[in-house]
Amino acid sequence: MSRPFPKTRPFTGNYAPILMECDAYDLPVDGELPAGLRGTLLRNGANPQFAPRDAGYHWFLGDGMVHAFGIADGRVKYRNRWVRTPKWELEHAAGEALFGSWGNPMTTDPRAQGKDWGIANTSLVWHGGRLFALEEGHQPFELAPDTLDSRGYHDFGGKITGRFTAHPRIDPETGEMVFFAYTADGMLTSGMLYGTISPSGEVTRKELFQAPYCAMVHDFAVTRNHVLFPVLPLTGSLPRAIAGGPAFAWEPDKGAWIGVMRRDAGTSSLRWFRGDPCFVFHVMNAWEDGEQICAEVVRYDRAPAFPDTKGEMGQTGIGRLARWRFDLSQPGDSFAWDYIDDMASEFPRIDDRFTGLPYRHGWLACERPEGRIEAAGGIEHIDVTSGRRTVCWMPPGDSVSEPVFVPRTPDAAEGDGWLLAVAWRGAEHRSDLIVLDTGALEDGPIATVGLSHRVPFGFHGMWLPG
Ligand code: FE
Repeated sequence: MSRPFPKTRPFTGNYAPILMECDAYDLPVDGELPAGLRGTLLRNGANPQFAPRDAGYHWFLGDGMVHAFGIADGRVKYRNRWVRTPKWELEHAAGEALFGSWGNPMTTDPRAQGKDWGIANTSLVWHGGRLFALEEGHQPFELAPDTLDSRGYHDFGGKITGRFTAHPRIDPETGEMVFFAYTADGMLTSGMLYGTISPSGEVTRKELFQAPYCAMVHDFAVTRNHVLFPVLPLTGSLPRAIAGGPAFAWEPDKGAWIGVMRRDAGTSSLRWFRGDPCFVFHVMNAWEDGEQICAEVVRYDRAPAFPDTKGEMGQTGIGRLARWRFDLSQPGDSFAWDYIDDMASEFPRIDDRFTGLPYRHGWLACERPEGRIEAAGGIEHIDVTSGRRTVCWMPPGDSVSEPVFVPRTPDAAEGDGWLLAVAWRGAEHRSDLIVLDTGALEDGPIATVGLSHRVPFGFHGMWLPG
């Protein structure tokens, strides 16, 4: 008999895990599914199998659960499966949580000491003919794309044996996967990894470098010729954690450092730019404008959802879309930035065929004034060339996930297609898959696919065509 979950935020409302895996074969569809929409929307998120062992639990630490909506011939099937990591298997056999939060050895059961606590809960990527569930503290974890069966960690021929970002980028022109990792050379260190993987899955570059300090680096940016590493002052500290403080804490005195590197030259070409403290979970896209590198990011004045070094949560700010501009033709270490949107938003996505290239269309989950990043009230489109914005608002009480873009055809114009997202119906405590046409966002979903259960608030998704 497993213990009850606490009544705290990560375990109540639509944060609460669902404790079953299931299949549905023909979900009811309200509206018209486009004939050209064939493939699978996959979403990943935290869904803890058991109540945590200590008070250090964070929403980010739940076991990964993948939800798949397969769409073909106007029918939709659904399947959800936990990602059966070594941690999941060990705890499943024990019937209780065995690992401390963030792998904390002080609160880890003797049966799990020294073992891998990867949770594979953050995102998904398809590359080299393989589907991976990703989480930034551990190796990519392979899943069978048709069944979601767990295949285990993938080490790319013995070359990826440690941490790996949940936000690699796939270069649309070369098919290369560009990746990084933070605290890559030990526990809460400033070592970072940069690397590339060929379209066929061979690791072609892997370099370790030192960041200015140890920080949680959730995302980075890749352009045609450059990589940006945002090292922002959500710092990691082992001495602080051992002393009972937060492993990761907001420490603005460290300032913001952004490393800009040439992809062809590697980490020896890193140039660090410095700015006022800020935090960014997600980069929407980055691109080159002559000698300038531009990046659109969701910027916070203070890292949300994390305490300061004394453990105080402080005021939770909002994330807004900003543009960073690094002028490589100028000396010095400063860079320009400005907000390009005043709406609170998160989970930025683009037409992935324009990753790293000049682009126009971005979509984000956006907040009502009273909302929260993971419980967004609408889906926003922004034309980053004009700043023009349109929003599809959910009915009051409902929340919507990150929107995933699907092109209408493989060679459709940028942004011409559909957005897929999962909407939580607050009053019904149930979720729907919604399909929006990017050409008529404000008109609302063209198709709504009803689940009889809810999909907990999660993180990131992807579209697997075919
Ligand atoms: Fe993320």
